[in-house]
This record gives sequence, structure tokens and C-alpha cells, in this order.
Amino acid sequence: MIEPRKMRFFNINTLEKIPQLERLSQEMIFEMKVVGNVLPFRTNNYVTDELIDWDQVPNDPMFQLTFPQRDMLPPELYEQMAAVMQSGADREVIAEEANRIRMALNPHPAGQMTANVPRLDDDVVEGLQHKYRETALVFPSSGQTCHAYCTFCFRWAQFVGIDGLKFATDESMRFQKYLAMHPEITDVLVTGGDPMIMSVKNLKEYLEPLLEPEFDHIKTIRIGTKSVAYWPYRFVTDKDSEEVLALFRRVTEAGKHLSIMGHHSHYVELETEVAAEAIQRIRQTGAQYRCQSPVLRHINDDPDVWARMWQKQVELGAIPYYMFVERDTGAKGYFEIPLWRALEIYKKAIQQVSGLARTVRGPSMSALPGKVQVDGVTEINGEMVYVLSFLQGRNPDWVKRPFFAKFDPEATWLNHLRPAFGEEHFFFEEELHLILENGNKYGWEKLQSSPRQFRPEELLRN
Ligand SMILES: *Cc1c(COP(=O)(O)O)cnc(C)c1O
Ligand code: SF4
Repeated sequence: MIEPRKMRFFNINTLEKIPQLERLSQEMIFEMKVVGNVLPFRTNNYVTDELIDWDQVPNDPMFQLTFPQRDMLPPELYEQMAAVMQSGADREVIAEEANRIRMALNPHPAGQMTANVPRLDDDVVEGLQHKYRETALVFPSSGQTCHAYCTFCFRWAQFVGIDGLKFATDESMRFQKYLAMHPEITDVLVTGGDPMIMSVKNLKEYLEPLLEPEFDHIKTIRIGTKSVAYWPYRFVTDKDSEEVLALFRRVTEAGKHLSIMGHHSHYVELETEVAAEAIQRIRQTGAQYRCQSPVLRHINDDPDVWARMWQKQVELGAIPYYMFVERDTGAKGYFEIPLWRALEIYKKAIQQVSGLARTVRGPSMSALPGKVQVDGVTEINGEMVYVLSFLQGRNPDWVKRPFFAKFDPEATWLNHLRPAFGEEHFFFEEELHLILENGNKYGWEKLQSSPRQFRPEELLRN
């Protein structure tokens, strides 16, 4: 029998209400506040009471995952923020300084603001991204927050409300019209933030219309969520959990494939009774439960952590899906690992599990041209190279075509890599420029002179 739990959020202003913080030094708490003024911070009582092992703090992976750490900011930026706070400056000055520092942290990586925004009758469709032919991403306006914030999150900019960086549907719900008019879209991925933060009433507004005949071409609905990790009660004892499950069942009974894309960074998130119960209940609706996460220093840069996590996923009836490389934004410097190391972790983990857990692909970079997987490191004609391939491309023809980059032990992202064998460009580069300038030949992007063009001066205003 799982007892209901009353949710209690903690943010940077209520940090000291967390009882376990009594164990930490004042110095450490100040450091958390400095960083937490710049990067978003939110956690809850399930994470603090059930997932974090306070005897292991600060090295505990769940603590690293949700609590700000000094080294998450580059030292000079940390010092600047600390100095403003120590000077006794008022809130406004602190907020201004925070915004200035945020702009130095690449708030919108991989051309997200400009390169994936679809249009309808020449107007931007709010809250939709259409990068790969088959799949459109929907960002519901009321799902742009989470049950706790991951310290590495590449969507952090929207949680701190930097003006103009919010990415969400508007009241017109015009994205539905766009989906109806694009028969090439077979998959809709509802994402955020975390859509499962929404009330069941809001969630219905996004899911139910997709069951109508005009959306017959949409075969699969995915919901990206970390709720099973951060608040599994959403599916077990929360007031409307039964209604949520009934909604899932309605989707699967309408003949759609429903896949809940669980974000799981560590096996700890899957080893509580309530998390297992949540996954079981989700699966009983006919939905699948797939799992994905980036590989992160301080949290899961250890093959044994991944092997145990994938094994646990299979035991719970879940499907290991993606291992990502951390994106180039926010506290990346703190979490990043070289590409060869990510590959090593993937390899050593996959070697420990049976075929049923080898459904997971990676390590994969969601970069400007597409999802690029690191397949291997090898030597060809005396040159050390990375073997790479697209799992998804802005042009679907790029997928599964191996290409080669000079081995660089420092490289942590695609843009650090140069072509091998003395070539000047990767095979996709010229076409990528054409696509970014003119829209895709499949017609799902018209990108030029996007009004969402990212303008730093404008973003600094508040
Ligand atoms: C990962 C991703 C998808 C989904 O890709 P799959 O390989 O089908 O899981 C769709 N759109 C964007 C922008 C993505 O990053
Ligand atoms: S749950 Fe997802 S969207 Fe929310 S903070 Fe974590 S990574 Fe970001």
C-alpha cells in the first residue's frame, strides 16, 4: 500500500526550509544561493526525502541532479554574482546581474529559436517545432515547468523567464491546424518542461483533439516526462491520477500508439516502490514506457550505473531508448565529458546487458543538422577517427550514412569536430546551409527572417 504524499516544492527563497540542509555548512548554502540566483532551482519533498542519500552529499547523484553547485558557473561569473549578493544589493540589481550572466551561458543551443519554427500562412506557429519530417514537438503553454529542475537542463532559459525565450503554444492552438495540414507527421511529441505537470483538464485539451479523424495520419503520441523520477505519485495517489490513466487508455483504445518517454538519469529514480507502481499503472493503460537521459559527469558517468539502470528498466517492462550527450548550454562545463568517454560508457554498459536492454541508442548529440550518434573510434589509414552517423537528419537521406571526423580527445560536441582524411567539409554541411536559408525541400520549414530571431539586447531588458 502506497501512502499519498503531499507535494511540497522548494525554490531558492525557501531553500532553507529543507530540513536536511541543517547538515550542510553555511558556506555551501551561500554557494547554492549564488548559483541558484542564475540557474533555475526547484526540488520537492519526494526528491529530498526518498531519492537523495544525504550521507553521500555533496557527491550524491540525485543531489547533483537538482541542487545548484558552485562549479556549475564559470569561476569569474560565480565571483561576479557572489560579489553583488555580498554587497547587499537589492533584488532588482541582483536580478539584473543574473540576467547578464545568463546571456553568457548560451540560453538557446542548436538553433532552437530560429531553425525549427514552423509557419502557417507565413505566420509563426507558436509552441511547435518541426525539425524531422515525421515528428512534431508540441510545447503546451501550461506544461513549461517541472516537478523539480535538473541542474543540467538545456531548457533552463524558459524556467528563469528570460524575455522572449519562452517557447509555448498560444491560446489559438494553431499548432493543431498545422498538424492537420501536414500528413507527413506521424508522431507528435508533447514536451516541455514537463507536460505531466499539467492538470488532467489541460492535458486532455492537447491529447483528445488528436483522436479526431483529421489527425488519422498521426499514429504515435509521445509524452516526454520526468514525473516518474521526480513525482511518481502523479500516476498513483494524486487526486486526478486515475483520470490521467483513463485518458491514456482512451488514447490507446483509439488505436494510437502512446509512448511515455521517461527521463531517467540514475537507477535510484527507478528503485522506489512508488516509481515501479507508476510504471506498472502506465503500462496497464496500453501505453509503452521508454527511457532516455543524457550522460553527465557527477551524475551518471559510469557504465555500471547505466547497466544497472537499463537492467532495471527491462525488469519494469520499460524500453531503454536513448543515451544523449549533454547540450552546449547552461552549466555544460560542469557536466560535459569528451565524446570518446561517452562512447566508452555506452560500450561498457551495453556489454553488460542482454539484447533486451540493447534497444538503447547513443551516445547521441541533438545538434543543428540532426541527431548524430558516435558509433566508434578507430584507425583508418593511420589516422585516428570518430565514426559518426545520423539517427535523425534535417534531410532524412542523411540517416545511417557513416561519416568520419578527426579524433580529438577534447571534443565534447559536434561543432568541435573536423572532417577526417583532409576533407574540408562534412558531407551534409552544404545542404544544411541551404536548408537553413531556404527551408526544407519537404516544405516543413520556412525559416528566413524569422521574427523569433534571437536578439541579446532585447533579452537583457528585464
Ligand atoms: C529526438 C527528436 C525527435 C524524435 O526523434 P526519434 O528518433 O524519432 O526519437 C524529434 N524532434 C526533435 C527536435 C528531436 O530532437
Ligand atoms: S525534467 Fe526535463 S525539462 Fe524539466 S528540468 Fe529536467 S531535463 Fe529539463
